[in-house]
Parts: sequence; structure tokens; C-alpha cells
Amino acid sequence: MKRYICPYCFLQLNANGQLVLIGDFPSDDKKGLVLLSDKLGDYTVHFSSNVNPEKGDKVHFSCPSCQKSLEYSKNKDLVRVVKIDEEGNEFSVVFSAIFGEHCTYKISEERTLTYGESAIKYQHPEWYLQE
Ligand SMILES: [Zn+2]
Repeated sequence: MKRYICPYCFLQLNANGQLVLIGDFPSDDKKGLVLLSDKLGDYTVHFSSNVNPEKGDKVHFSCPSCQKSLEYSKNKDLVRVVKIDEEGNEFSVVFSAIFGEHCTYKISEERTLTYGESAIKYQHPEWYLQE
């Protein structure tokens, strides 16, 4: 069973095929729930009905338990969570915080796998060294 966890409090963030995160939407000046597919490269996303982001809006993601920001330390337009796969291997999963921008990076010491048509925008070969 693959798990996504908060890098700070280690809460499991996924259930029933989706990651559940808190999003802060500056365009609406509101917080809402964000449901993301747990399948890398699948950009299906659902928001709670109180928020209505538009393409290009930046969402500030945080953990639903400890409420810490999940902003990636190396780039404020990216979000980081930790993935633990079926074999117990641990990865950083980094994705864009910009609504409509499709890029995801699965980062380990050995390699970085990229997903999405915007992936070339942020990729950095030394990322894994900078955690
Ligand atoms: Zn947390």
C-alpha cells in the first residue's frame, strides 16, 4: 500500500486514491480542502465548494494535521510531500502549487522521475542533495 505522509508530523495524507491537503487560496482569500489524485502524473483535482481557483492561481498547501506549510524549501512555487511505496522506499514528491501547471517530481538519491507537461520548468538535477 503506497502512502503519502506529511514531512513534519508523518500523518498519512492519502485515502481512497486521493491526497487530502489544506489549500490557502489568495485569489479567494479563503482556505479549502484540496483532493489530489495519488497517481503520479494524474492531475485530477477537486476542491471544496467554498473555493474557486482559476488557472495560474498559486495555492498555499499545508498539512491537515499539523498545519505546517508544505512549500518546498528550494522553490516557493512547489509543494513537497513524502511518498513511501509498497516496498517501503521513501521519496520526496514535489509538485507545482500553481493551479493548472502540471509537473511532478519523484525524487530519490538514485534518480528523479518527472511527470507532466510543465516538468522542464523547475527540474533541478541536484535536488535530492538539498533536502
Ligand atoms: Zn503534518
